[in-house]
Amino acid sequence: MSLSEIKQRLSKACADHGRNEADVTLIAVSKVQPNERVEEVLKAGHRVFGENKVQEAAGKWPMFRETYDGIELHLIGPLQSNKARQAMELAQSIHTVDRPKIATTIARLAQEMGHCPELFIQVNTGEEPQKAGIAPADADAFIKECQGMDLPIRGLMCIPPVDEEASLHFALLRKIAERNGLSGLSMGMSDDFEKAISFGATHVRVGSAIFGARDYG
Ligand SMILES: *Cc1c(COP(=O)(O)O)cnc(C)c1O
Repeated sequence: MSLSEIKQRLSKACADHGRNEADVTLIAVSKVQPNERVEEVLKAGHRVFGENKVQEAAGKWPMFRETYDGIELHLIGPLQSNKARQAMELAQSIHTVDRPKIATTIARLAQEMGHCPELFIQVNTGEEPQKAGIAPADADAFIKECQGMDLPIRGLMCIPPVDEEASLHFALLRKIAERNGLSGLSMGMSDDFEKAISFGATHVRVGSAIFGARDYG
C-alpha cells in the first residue's frame, strides 16, 4: 500500500506548480481491488474513493460505511439510466454525465429524491468512438443544457487516449471549463496525476499506484 507515497507526490506536485493542496482531491480508485486492500487504505485514514460500476460499489461501500465514518464515494465509470437512482443513493459525486438522456434522468430523480450528487460532465477530448463523453464541439451547449436543468455541475472530466500526450487533453479540458465558468477538473490517473495537477486538476483519480495492479483474473 503506497497511499503515503502518493500523498507525498501529490503535495510535491502542488508545491512545484503553485497549487494549493486543499484544492486537489485525491480519489483512491478501488475498483476490482480486494476488500483487504481497500480496508488498509481506510485504516490509514483515507476517505475518498472512486468506483467504476454501481453494482460493485453497492457490494462493498454500504458495508464499509458501517465501520468507517465520512466516506465520500465518486462514481467514475459509465452510467446507465436504469442505474442512476442507485448511483445517486450511493455516491456523493458522479463524474460521467455524458449525454442528454442521463442528464434528464438525474434531474428528474434529483427532484424526486430531494438531493443530487455533485456532477462532472465527461468530455471525450480524444474524440474516440469507443469512449464515453460529449464531443468537445458539443460541450458548451451540453453544459448549458445541464445547467438549465438546475443540475449541480461541479466541473469536467476526461480520460485521455492511451497513446497520446495527456497534456494536450488536460489543456483542452481546462479551456472548455474556463470558458464555461466551471472550476472543477477531474483528470489525471496513476501515470500522469502530477502532470494533471500542473494543468489545474482539482480531482485526480489514482488506482493502481495506491492499491497495486488490478487482478481481473
Ligand atoms: C480505473 C480508472 C482510473 C484509475 O486508473 P489507474 O491507472 O489505476 O490509476 C481513473 N479513472 C477512471 C475513469 C478509471 O476507470
